[in-house]
Amino acid sequence: STEQTPTPRPNIGAIPPYVAGKPPTVRPGMVSYKLSSNENPYPPLPGVVEAVQQAVGSMNRYPDMGSASLYQALSDRLGVPVDDLSLATGSVGLIYQLVQAFCEPGDEVVYAWRSFEAYPIAVTAAAATSVKVPVLPDGRHDLDAMAAAVTDRTRIVLVCTPNNPTGPAVTRAELDAFLAKVPPRVLVVVDEAYLEFVRMADPVDGLATYRRHRNVVLTRTFSKAYGLAGFRVGYAVAPEPIAGALRAVSLPFGVSTVAQVAAIASLEREAELLERVEALVAERTRVVDGLRAAGWDVPEAQGNFVWFDLGERTLDFAAAADELGIVVRPFAGEGVRVSIGEDEANDRLLKLAQEFPR
Ligand code: PMP
Repeated sequence: STEQTPTPRPNIGAIPPYVAGKPPTVRPGMVSYKLSSNENPYPPLPGVVEAVQQAVGSMNRYPDMGSASLYQALSDRLGVPVDDLSLATGSVGLIYQLVQAFCEPGDEVVYAWRSFEAYPIAVTAAAATSVKVPVLPDGRHDLDAMAAAVTDRTRIVLVCTPNNPTGPAVTRAELDAFLAKVPPRVLVVVDEAYLEFVRMADPVDGLATYRRHRNVVLTRTFSKAYGLAGFRVGYAVAPEPIAGALRAVSLPFGVSTVAQVAAIASLEREAELLERVEALVAERTRVVDGLRAAGWDVPEAQGNFVWFDLGERTLDFAAAADELGIVVRPFAGEGVRVSIGEDEANDRLLKLAQEFPR
Protein backbone atom coordinates (compact mmCIF):
# COMPACT_ATOMS: atom_id res chain seq x y z
CA SER A 1 0.00 0.00 0.00
CA THR A 2 1.07 3.62 -0.40
CA GLU A 3 1.69 3.93 3.34
CA GLN A 4 4.69 1.67 2.91
CA THR A 5 6.34 3.58 0.06
CA PRO A 6 9.23 5.78 1.08
CA THR A 7 8.21 9.41 0.90
CA PRO A 8 10.59 12.33 0.46
CA ARG A 9 10.33 15.32 2.80
CA PRO A 10 7.15 17.29 1.96
CA ASN A 11 9.05 20.26 0.54
CA ILE A 12 10.74 18.07 -2.08
CA GLY A 13 7.45 17.83 -3.99
CA ALA A 14 7.30 21.63 -3.96
CA ILE A 15 10.64 22.10 -5.73
CA PRO A 16 10.03 24.03 -8.95
CA PRO A 17 11.52 22.38 -12.04
CA TYR A 18 14.79 23.67 -13.51
CA VAL A 19 14.00 24.16 -17.17
CA ALA A 20 17.35 23.98 -18.94
CA GLY A 21 17.94 25.71 -22.26
CA LYS A 22 16.78 23.57 -25.18
CA PRO A 23 19.39 22.22 -27.61
CA PRO A 24 19.23 23.55 -31.18
CA THR A 25 16.46 22.18 -33.36
CA VAL A 26 17.84 19.91 -36.08
CA ARG A 27 16.59 21.00 -39.50
CA PRO A 28 17.98 19.62 -42.75
CA GLY A 29 20.14 22.18 -44.53
CA MET A 30 20.06 24.72 -41.71
CA VAL A 31 22.61 25.41 -39.00
CA SER A 32 20.83 26.16 -35.76
CA TYR A 33 22.36 28.09 -32.85
CA LYS A 34 21.78 27.55 -29.15
CA LEU A 35 21.27 30.88 -27.43
CA SER A 36 19.29 29.47 -24.52
CA SER A 37 21.83 28.80 -21.74
CA ASN A 38 24.12 31.86 -21.64
CA GLU A 39 27.01 29.72 -22.78
CA ASN A 40 30.21 31.01 -24.31
CA PRO A 41 30.14 30.30 -28.07
CA TYR A 42 33.94 29.80 -28.14
CA PRO A 43 35.21 26.28 -27.39
CA PRO A 44 38.00 25.81 -24.81
CA LEU A 45 41.42 27.01 -26.05
CA PRO A 46 43.65 24.34 -27.68
CA GLY A 47 46.05 24.45 -24.71
CA VAL A 48 43.15 23.75 -22.36
CA VAL A 49 41.94 20.84 -24.49
CA GLU A 50 45.49 19.40 -24.54
CA ALA A 51 45.87 19.63 -20.77
CA VAL A 52 42.52 17.90 -20.33
CA GLN A 53 43.44 15.18 -22.81
CA GLN A 54 46.58 14.45 -20.85
CA ALA A 55 44.59 14.18 -17.63
CA VAL A 56 41.99 11.81 -19.07
CA GLY A 57 44.41 8.89 -18.76
CA SER A 58 44.24 9.10 -14.96
CA MET A 59 40.47 9.23 -14.70
CA ASN A 60 40.42 5.78 -13.09
CA ARG A 61 41.61 7.68 -9.96
CA TYR A 62 39.58 10.02 -7.79
CA PRO A 63 40.51 13.67 -8.22
CA ASP A 64 42.66 15.51 -5.70
CA MET A 65 39.94 15.88 -3.07
CA GLY A 66 41.43 19.12 -1.83
CA SER A 67 41.93 20.52 -5.36
CA ALA A 68 45.15 21.98 -3.96
CA SER A 69 46.62 23.26 -7.24
CA LEU A 70 43.43 25.01 -8.29
CA TYR A 71 42.96 26.59 -4.86
CA GLN A 72 46.53 27.87 -5.02
CA ALA A 73 46.11 29.18 -8.57
CA LEU A 74 42.96 31.08 -7.58
CA SER A 75 44.54 32.37 -4.40
CA ASP A 76 47.48 33.72 -6.41
CA ARG A 77 45.26 35.17 -9.11
CA LEU A 78 42.86 36.93 -6.73
CA GLY A 79 45.25 37.80 -3.90
CA VAL A 80 43.06 36.13 -1.27
CA PRO A 81 44.02 33.41 1.24
CA VAL A 82 43.26 29.84 0.24
CA ASP A 83 41.14 29.58 3.42
CA ASP A 84 38.79 32.23 2.03
CA LEU A 85 37.99 30.17 -1.08
CA SER A 86 35.59 27.30 -1.64
CA LEU A 87 35.40 25.39 -4.91
CA ALA A 88 32.17 23.76 -6.02
CA THR A 89 30.47 21.83 -8.77
CA GLY A 90 29.57 24.98 -10.70
CA SER A 91 28.60 28.13 -8.86
CA VAL A 92 25.09 26.69 -8.67
CA GLY A 93 26.58 24.15 -6.25
CA LEU A 94 27.58 27.06 -4.01
CA ILE A 95 24.00 28.34 -3.87
CA TYR A 96 22.82 24.95 -2.60
CA GLN A 97 25.67 24.75 -0.09
CA LEU A 98 25.04 28.28 1.21
CA VAL A 99 21.39 27.54 1.92
CA GLN A 100 22.26 24.16 3.42
CA ALA A 101 24.95 25.58 5.69
CA PHE A 102 23.14 28.72 6.86
CA CYS A 103 19.38 28.05 6.86
CA GLU A 104 17.26 26.08 9.30
CA PRO A 105 13.90 24.97 7.89
CA GLY A 106 11.65 28.02 7.59
CA ASP A 107 14.50 30.53 7.57
CA GLU A 108 14.13 33.16 4.88
CA VAL A 109 16.23 33.81 1.80
CA VAL A 110 15.57 37.13 0.07
CA TYR A 111 16.28 37.59 -3.61
CA ALA A 112 15.09 39.58 -6.61
CA TRP A 113 12.58 38.04 -8.95
CA ARG A 114 12.80 37.25 -11.69
CA SER A 115 16.36 36.11 -11.23
CA PHE A 116 18.36 32.90 -11.59
CA GLU A 117 15.91 30.03 -11.49
CA ALA A 118 18.11 27.77 -9.36
CA TYR A 119 17.54 30.09 -6.36
CA PRO A 120 13.98 28.93 -5.55
CA ILE A 121 15.02 25.33 -6.19
CA ALA A 122 17.94 25.45 -3.75
CA VAL A 123 15.87 27.29 -1.13
CA THR A 124 12.90 24.91 -1.36
CA ALA A 125 15.15 21.84 -1.35
CA ALA A 126 16.56 22.96 2.01
CA ALA A 127 13.04 23.61 3.41
CA ALA A 128 13.89 27.30 3.70
CA THR A 129 11.48 30.01 2.58
CA SER A 130 11.90 32.21 -0.49
CA VAL A 131 11.11 35.91 -0.20
CA LYS A 132 11.00 37.19 -3.77
CA VAL A 133 11.24 40.94 -4.31
CA PRO A 134 10.11 42.02 -7.80
CA VAL A 135 12.74 43.66 -9.99
CA LEU A 136 12.05 47.25 -11.05
CA PRO A 137 10.37 47.82 -14.46
CA ASP A 138 13.81 48.36 -16.02
CA GLY A 139 15.01 44.95 -14.77
CA ARG A 140 17.21 46.31 -11.97
CA HIS A 141 17.25 44.98 -8.41
CA ASP A 142 15.02 46.97 -6.06
CA LEU A 143 17.63 46.99 -3.30
CA ASP A 144 15.60 49.31 -1.05
CA ALA A 145 12.70 46.86 -1.13
CA MET A 146 15.10 43.95 -0.64
CA ALA A 147 16.60 45.58 2.46
CA ALA A 148 13.09 46.27 3.73
CA ALA A 149 12.17 42.59 3.19
CA VAL A 150 14.81 41.44 5.71
CA THR A 151 13.21 40.07 8.90
CA ASP A 152 14.46 38.29 12.01
CA ARG A 153 14.20 35.05 10.04
CA THR A 154 16.30 36.21 7.11
CA ARG A 155 19.60 34.38 6.91
CA ILE A 156 20.66 35.10 3.31
CA VAL A 157 20.13 37.78 0.68
CA LEU A 158 21.11 36.82 -2.86
CA VAL A 159 22.19 39.73 -5.07
CA CYS A 160 22.59 38.66 -8.69
CA THR A 161 24.74 41.15 -10.60
CA PRO A 162 24.39 41.25 -13.56
CA ASN A 163 20.92 39.84 -13.06
CA ASN A 164 20.02 36.72 -15.01
CA PRO A 165 17.78 37.02 -17.00
CA THR A 166 16.99 40.76 -17.05
CA GLY A 167 20.57 42.03 -17.58
CA PRO A 168 21.32 45.12 -15.48
CA ALA A 169 24.09 45.13 -12.88
CA VAL A 170 24.22 46.72 -9.43
CA THR A 171 26.58 49.68 -8.92
CA ARG A 172 29.18 49.87 -6.19
CA ALA A 173 27.30 52.76 -4.54
CA GLU A 174 24.04 50.79 -4.57
CA LEU A 175 25.65 47.72 -3.02
CA ASP A 176 27.44 49.78 -0.36
CA ALA A 177 24.18 51.54 0.58
CA PHE A 178 22.44 48.16 0.74
CA LEU A 179 25.13 46.62 2.95
CA ALA A 180 24.87 49.56 5.33
CA LYS A 181 21.18 48.74 5.86
CA VAL A 182 21.41 44.96 6.24
CA PRO A 183 22.29 43.61 9.71
CA PRO A 184 25.73 41.92 9.76
CA ARG A 185 24.19 38.60 10.90
CA VAL A 186 22.64 38.28 7.41
CA LEU A 187 24.78 36.69 4.73
CA VAL A 188 24.87 38.77 1.55
CA VAL A 189 25.73 36.64 -1.47
CA VAL A 190 26.89 38.53 -4.53
CA ASP A 191 26.39 36.21 -7.50
CA GLU A 192 29.00 37.37 -9.99
CA ALA A 193 28.53 34.65 -12.62
CA TYR A 194 28.74 37.26 -15.40
CA LEU A 195 31.28 39.56 -13.73
CA GLU A 196 33.73 39.66 -16.66
CA PHE A 197 31.08 41.02 -19.05
CA VAL A 198 30.28 44.13 -16.98
CA ARG A 199 31.07 47.48 -18.67
CA MET A 200 29.47 50.29 -16.72
CA ALA A 201 30.28 53.29 -14.58
CA ASP A 202 30.95 52.49 -10.91
CA PRO A 203 30.57 48.69 -11.07
CA VAL A 204 30.53 46.57 -7.92
CA ASP A 205 34.08 45.76 -6.81
CA GLY A 206 33.42 42.34 -5.36
CA LEU A 207 36.85 41.69 -3.89
CA ALA A 208 37.02 45.11 -2.22
CA THR A 209 33.53 44.53 -0.80
CA TYR A 210 34.44 41.10 0.59
CA ARG A 211 37.53 42.62 2.22
CA ARG A 212 35.43 45.23 4.03
CA HIS A 213 32.52 43.07 5.19
CA ARG A 214 32.48 39.88 7.31
CA ASN A 215 29.07 38.87 5.90
CA VAL A 216 29.76 39.04 2.15
CA VAL A 217 30.25 36.04 -0.14
CA LEU A 218 31.14 36.30 -3.82
CA THR A 219 30.18 33.41 -6.08
CA ARG A 220 31.96 33.08 -9.40
CA THR A 221 32.22 30.54 -12.19
CA PHE A 222 34.40 29.21 -14.98
CA SER A 223 31.23 28.52 -17.00
CA LYS A 224 30.67 31.87 -18.70
CA ALA A 225 33.68 34.09 -19.48
CA TYR A 226 36.08 31.14 -19.34
CA GLY A 227 33.86 28.96 -21.51
CA LEU A 228 34.03 25.82 -19.34
CA ALA A 229 30.30 25.29 -18.62
CA GLY A 230 30.50 21.56 -19.28
CA PHE A 231 33.28 21.07 -16.73
CA ARG A 232 31.25 22.45 -13.80
CA VAL A 233 33.64 24.58 -11.75
CA GLY A 234 32.65 27.52 -9.58
CA TYR A 235 34.12 29.11 -6.48
CA ALA A 236 33.19 31.34 -3.59
CA VAL A 237 35.30 34.06 -2.03
CA ALA A 238 34.30 34.75 1.58
CA PRO A 239 35.77 35.26 5.04
CA GLU A 240 37.15 31.98 6.38
CA PRO A 241 34.24 31.05 8.68
CA ILE A 242 31.86 31.22 5.71
CA ALA A 243 34.19 29.65 3.15
CA GLY A 244 34.99 26.92 5.70
CA ALA A 245 31.29 26.14 6.17
CA LEU A 246 30.91 25.85 2.41
CA ARG A 247 33.86 23.46 2.20
CA ALA A 248 32.41 21.43 5.07
CA VAL A 249 29.12 20.75 3.27
CA SER A 250 30.65 20.32 -0.18
CA LEU A 251 30.19 17.13 -2.14
CA PRO A 252 33.35 14.99 -1.76
CA PHE A 253 35.25 14.93 -5.09
CA GLY A 254 32.69 17.36 -6.55
CA VAL A 255 35.25 18.95 -8.88
CA SER A 256 36.60 16.30 -11.25
CA THR A 257 40.24 15.97 -12.26
CA VAL A 258 39.56 17.17 -15.79
CA ALA A 259 37.60 20.13 -14.41
CA GLN A 260 40.48 21.11 -12.11
CA VAL A 261 42.95 20.81 -14.97
CA ALA A 262 40.75 22.80 -17.36
CA ALA A 263 40.28 25.59 -14.83
CA ILE A 264 44.02 25.85 -14.09
CA ALA A 265 44.93 25.80 -17.80
CA SER A 266 42.33 28.52 -18.41
CA LEU A 267 43.69 30.73 -15.63
CA GLU A 268 47.11 30.38 -17.29
CA ARG A 269 45.55 31.63 -20.53
CA GLU A 270 43.33 34.26 -19.03
CA ALA A 271 44.46 37.12 -21.25
CA GLU A 272 43.44 35.25 -24.38
CA LEU A 273 40.09 34.30 -22.84
CA LEU A 274 39.39 37.87 -21.83
CA GLU A 275 40.01 38.98 -25.43
CA ARG A 276 37.14 36.71 -26.38
CA VAL A 277 35.02 38.28 -23.67
CA GLU A 278 35.85 41.65 -25.23
CA ALA A 279 34.63 40.38 -28.60
CA LEU A 280 31.41 39.14 -27.01
CA VAL A 281 30.91 42.48 -25.29
CA ALA A 282 31.36 44.20 -28.67
CA GLU A 283 28.76 41.86 -30.14
CA ARG A 284 26.44 42.62 -27.21
CA THR A 285 26.78 46.34 -27.95
CA ARG A 286 26.04 45.73 -31.62
CA VAL A 287 22.96 43.66 -30.74
CA VAL A 288 21.58 46.06 -28.12
CA ASP A 289 22.15 49.10 -30.37
CA GLY A 290 20.47 47.26 -33.25
CA LEU A 291 17.50 46.27 -31.12
CA ARG A 292 17.03 49.81 -29.81
CA ALA A 293 17.34 51.24 -33.32
CA ALA A 294 14.61 48.80 -34.36
CA GLY A 295 12.35 50.19 -31.64
CA TRP A 296 12.84 47.62 -28.90
CA ASP A 297 12.98 48.82 -25.33
CA VAL A 298 15.51 46.29 -23.99
CA PRO A 299 16.99 46.73 -20.51
CA GLU A 300 20.66 47.47 -19.97
CA ALA A 301 22.55 44.26 -20.81
CA GLN A 302 25.63 43.72 -18.61
CA GLY A 303 25.86 39.93 -18.99
CA ASN A 304 26.28 37.82 -22.12
CA PHE A 305 22.54 37.96 -22.86
CA VAL A 306 19.65 40.31 -23.62
CA TRP A 307 16.14 40.34 -22.18
CA PHE A 308 12.89 40.94 -24.04
CA ASP A 309 9.92 41.84 -21.84
CA LEU A 310 7.25 40.19 -23.99
CA GLY A 311 4.50 39.12 -21.58
CA GLU A 312 1.88 37.07 -23.36
CA ARG A 313 3.83 37.12 -26.64
CA THR A 314 6.79 35.27 -25.15
CA LEU A 315 6.12 31.88 -26.70
CA ASP A 316 5.33 33.43 -30.12
CA PHE A 317 8.70 35.16 -30.10
CA ALA A 318 10.47 31.93 -29.13
CA ALA A 319 8.68 30.05 -31.93
CA ALA A 320 9.62 32.75 -34.47
CA ALA A 321 13.24 32.51 -33.29
CA ASP A 322 13.17 28.77 -33.76
CA GLU A 323 12.01 29.26 -37.36
CA LEU A 324 15.10 31.39 -37.96
CA GLY A 325 17.38 28.75 -36.46
CA ILE A 326 18.07 30.29 -33.08
CA VAL A 327 16.99 28.65 -29.84
CA VAL A 328 16.17 31.19 -27.14
CA ARG A 329 15.03 30.86 -23.53
CA PRO A 330 11.35 31.74 -23.00
CA PHE A 331 9.89 32.34 -19.53
CA ALA A 332 6.21 31.84 -20.37
CA GLY A 333 4.07 34.91 -19.75
CA GLU A 334 7.11 37.03 -18.90
CA GLY A 335 9.79 37.36 -21.50
CA VAL A 336 12.63 35.87 -23.47
CA ARG A 337 16.34 35.74 -22.68
CA VAL A 338 18.72 35.45 -25.62
CA SER A 339 22.44 34.75 -25.17
CA ILE A 340 25.03 36.61 -27.22
CA GLY A 341 26.47 33.94 -29.49
CA GLU A 342 28.25 33.52 -32.78
CA ASP A 343 28.10 36.60 -35.06
CA GLU A 344 25.75 34.78 -37.42
CA ALA A 345 23.45 33.84 -34.54
CA ASN A 346 23.37 37.46 -33.38
CA ASP A 347 22.56 38.56 -36.96
CA ARG A 348 19.59 36.23 -36.91
CA LEU A 349 18.38 37.72 -33.64
CA LEU A 350 18.55 41.20 -35.16
CA LYS A 351 16.63 39.94 -38.21
CA LEU A 352 13.98 38.45 -35.94
CA ALA A 353 13.73 41.69 -34.00
CA GLN A 354 13.17 43.58 -37.27
CA GLU A 355 10.41 41.21 -38.35
CA PHE A 356 8.61 40.57 -35.06
CA PRO A 357 6.09 43.26 -34.06
CA ARG A 358 7.45 45.44 -31.20
N1 PMP B 1 24.49 32.27 -11.25
C1 PMP B 1 23.85 32.79 -12.28
C2 PMP B 1 23.29 34.15 -12.17
C3 PMP B 1 23.71 32.05 -13.47
O1 PMP B 1 23.04 32.57 -14.49
C4 PMP B 1 24.28 30.77 -13.56
C5 PMP B 1 24.20 29.91 -14.80
N2 PMP B 1 23.09 30.02 -15.56
C6 PMP B 1 24.93 30.27 -12.43
C7 PMP B 1 25.03 31.05 -11.30
C8 PMP B 1 25.48 28.90 -12.37
O2 PMP B 1 26.48 28.65 -13.26
P1 PMP B 1 27.46 27.42 -13.04
O3 PMP B 1 26.80 26.46 -12.10
O4 PMP B 1 27.65 26.86 -14.39
O5 PMP B 1 28.69 28.00 -12.45
